[in-house]
Amino acid sequence: MSAISDLSRPLAGGQPLTVDASLPRLSPVAHRALERAGLGTIRDKVVGGERLSYEDGLALYACNDLSAVGALANLVRERKHGDLTYFNRNIHVDPTNVCVAECIFCSFSRLKTGDPNAYLMQVDEVVGRVRDLRGKFLTEIHMVNGLNPDLPFSYYTDLLKALKVEQPDLHIKAFTAVEIHFFAEFYGMTYEEVLQQLMDAGLDSMPGGGAEIFHPRARKKLCKDKADADEWLAVHRLAHKMGMRTNCTMLFGSIERVEERVDHVIRLRELQDETGGFQTFIPLRFHNTNNRLRKIPEPTAGDTLRTFAVSRLMLDNMPHIKAYWPMLGIELAQLSLDFGVDDIDGTVLEERIYHMAGADTPQGLARADLISLIRRAGRIPVERDTLYHVAAEA
Ligand code: SF4
Repeated sequence: MSAISDLSRPLAGGQPLTVDASLPRLSPVAHRALERAGLGTIRDKVVGGERLSYEDGLALYACNDLSAVGALANLVRERKHGDLTYFNRNIHVDPTNVCVAECIFCSFSRLKTGDPNAYLMQVDEVVGRVRDLRGKFLTEIHMVNGLNPDLPFSYYTDLLKALKVEQPDLHIKAFTAVEIHFFAEFYGMTYEEVLQQLMDAGLDSMPGGGAEIFHPRARKKLCKDKADADEWLAVHRLAHKMGMRTNCTMLFGSIERVEERVDHVIRLRELQDETGGFQTFIPLRFHNTNNRLRKIPEPTAGDTLRTFAVSRLMLDNMPHIKAYWPMLGIELAQLSLDFGVDDIDGTVLEERIYHMAGADTPQGLARADLISLIRRAGRIPVERDTLYHVAAEA
């Protein structure tokens, strides 16, 4: 099994992990294209390391020259990471899809226990999944749930404890801020009490789900009956204060406006200024199968790549931008590496949420496949753990 070491450790194949930030330059062609597209001022800000404004974000969305926007995002990506592109070995387990909320974009949840396709995995079943995959040398389990009103809080703490007994070195990244908010309301605890009990039972970090779109106009339509923007941000603020690292997301391409996307990333940037606790931002592409938004077309490849690029440019304080390949498809994930992305998630064994929404990507990729797809995109693969420590070659 891979040993996890620190970021100063050389990669297999002799690639040093230090990134020479002085090297990346915009090509003269990109310089001229940005000037022609009216983005000369934004280009100068980015080159000079200056923060972009809300209006700059809107201008980047309005720009006709997608490749020029991509080149600018790539400059930032290469300044931070060179060609390094991160992945890990993980499994996704979603122990229950019973959920009292009715988010109109969701294809995963079922309202009540006993509804067709509603399910609950017992603790032993989740632990058994991990045991069965022992030979895959997983370093992370990613676990999220519906907001299930039929479970005691001890179900979650028992689950965490049992997973730690089964594989003590497995990093448990679990429970969205929406779930933490639900636990606090439903079981009558403060956010701090919920987080502390989960951390004591084995929770290591939190995923970034449930953010959707913060702006109240869109959020009210998409998911009116779960944690609002301030509550989502309050949970992450507290998690950071309590010593946990977390991720953050944005659901894009459904009914939101580009103004609301820019507003969303600025709110994340502000919290990151305050705490520094986010590791990675993951723009999540809307899928329209098996949900109530089936008449809304899915975002185009161009809109998807632009959203990655604008996110990279606006989130100057975010270490990583991740493309979640099961949702994007392999080719678009590869292309995104030229649009600001430096992480393509992991092996993602047993993904369920996006496949229920119509994703036609494979159920998991082997480590060798991930390495190959990154190399074919002209980048350098780096296996990491959840906290971005580099894993040595097996
Ligand atoms: S997105 Fe989450 S909270 Fe909303 S219905 Fe689906 S499982 Fe429930």
